[in-house]
Amino acid sequence: MSNGNLYARFERIFEANDARVAIRCADRTSLTFGDLARGAARYANALNALGVEPGDRVTVQVEKSIANVLLYLAVLKVGAVYQPLNIAYTATEVAYFVEDAEPKLVVCDPSRQAEMRTLADRCGIFAVVNLDAEGVGSLATMAAGMDERHETVARTADDIAGLLYTSGTTGRSKGAMITHDNLASNAETLVDLWRMTPGDRLLHALPIFHVHGLFVALNTAFLSAASIVWFGKFDAKAILAAMPEATLLMGVPTFYTRLLAEPGFTKEAVRSMRLFISGSAPLLAETHGEFSARTGHGILERYGMTETGMITSNPYDGARVPGTVGFALPGISVRIRGEQPGVIDVKGPNVFKGYWRMPEKTREDFTTDGWFITGDVGTIDPEGRVTIVGRAKDLIITGGFNVYPKEIEEVLNAMPGVGESAVIGVPHPDFGEGVVAVVTAKSKLVPEADIIAALSGSLAKFKMPKRIFEVAELPRNAMGKVQKAELRRRYANTFNS
Ligand code: AMP
Repeated sequence: MSNGNLYARFERIFEANDARVAIRCADRTSLTFGDLARGAARYANALNALGVEPGDRVTVQVEKSIANVLLYLAVLKVGAVYQPLNIAYTATEVAYFVEDAEPKLVVCDPSRQAEMRTLADRCGIFAVVNLDAEGVGSLATMAAGMDERHETVARTADDIAGLLYTSGTTGRSKGAMITHDNLASNAETLVDLWRMTPGDRLLHALPIFHVHGLFVALNTAFLSAASIVWFGKFDAKAILAAMPEATLLMGVPTFYTRLLAEPGFTKEAVRSMRLFISGSAPLLAETHGEFSARTGHGILERYGMTETGMITSNPYDGARVPGTVGFALPGISVRIRGEQPGVIDVKGPNVFKGYWRMPEKTREDFTTDGWFITGDVGTIDPEGRVTIVGRAKDLIITGGFNVYPKEIEEVLNAMPGVGESAVIGVPHPDFGEGVVAVVTAKSKLVPEADIIAALSGSLAKFKMPKRIFEVAELPRNAMGKVQKAELRRRYANTFNS
């Protein structure tokens, strides 16, 4: 039987493309696929020397670097479980993830070595090593001295490859157990659908502690033997400068709004590009429109989540409809039980194995007939095209009526003077929840009363925001998602003071 380890698939591709460039960095240094294979083997030997065995968790909280990529590959190679953490998490937050995952090894930034060691001692973890933003650190030093041969550990398709914690805006953050087959099947499907080939050069500016930059971008590039144009972080000018040598960009919506803010972002600048992909947060129809007017490219929007990888995508050929996330990927099914809009369920080889050590929570989030309940509310049209209207927990119930924030946000966004908007429900003494809009101004915002007056023509009375607050910027996380829980906290006393 062939090895179900995802790395075994990468390994075949790395060997077949030994001398070709796999990753090119901004300073023009590059790694070939052969370098990746040898680097992964050295790191794998280092992990083994540190006591990591198949099934062990390896917690990684480091800045984005090539060494971090080698570490990811090595964790797969030794059959261990990769647990990436956002570099922004504080020591208290990290303590929760480490205590919950019980890793054998923690890899952190050198600046955190001492506090991590204290935490490790408390949790009985054997080793703490480090890597900095340049990929320098005790783990890199150790790996440099290791043999460049290492036999990839056999895994079954159902063994866990990654443990990724959900952002956990309500309650405790949960660890999603993601198997080798979840990753392999999803990446293979995407390579096919998005027509990725060895001729592609992918602009990679996403963080790699999250499913988008880690599993969608890296895994598809490795499986298609595409080469990666590497950035430590997103910088519109740097991306623009590298664009003439690239064919493909995977980004969050803010990448696209920032690129549009660059006067040099023109048809000429995108002449070698074949595809722009967006996901992780909703892409405004307005951005989609501006982008195609400027570049002639329709951004391909897709939808997914940590627990499921990618679920839907707009088509490669055929209409990429703004404001929709396209069709279920081949082999994956989506449905809405009952009325539309309603909560989207998903089934397929992409769906994770369950929440780490939370059997109750896992049971709650699956239907009795085995579908995963995404918690996203949307519609599915007769052709199967999916539109997301928001998270179920963001649904507002005011005076007994359901209000979907997206509908109001779209009306607000179309108003002159309004940049972006986020609509939330906060406690209201009469209505249960009262509708509040938080907006940014394009230049100068029209007064609150005038916006409310203008909205009254297009929205039913119960949907009307009772208050409108202007902010300089909407709070967003690293993936560009608006933090509605944070906004609800901020405006909680609007009607109760
Ligand atoms: P995460 O697990 O951090 O990747 O977040 C997944 C959530 O992001 C999904 O459940 C959706 O609510 C949201 N999301 C991802 N892609 C899109 C998209 N294209 N449009 C709207 N929401 C999206």
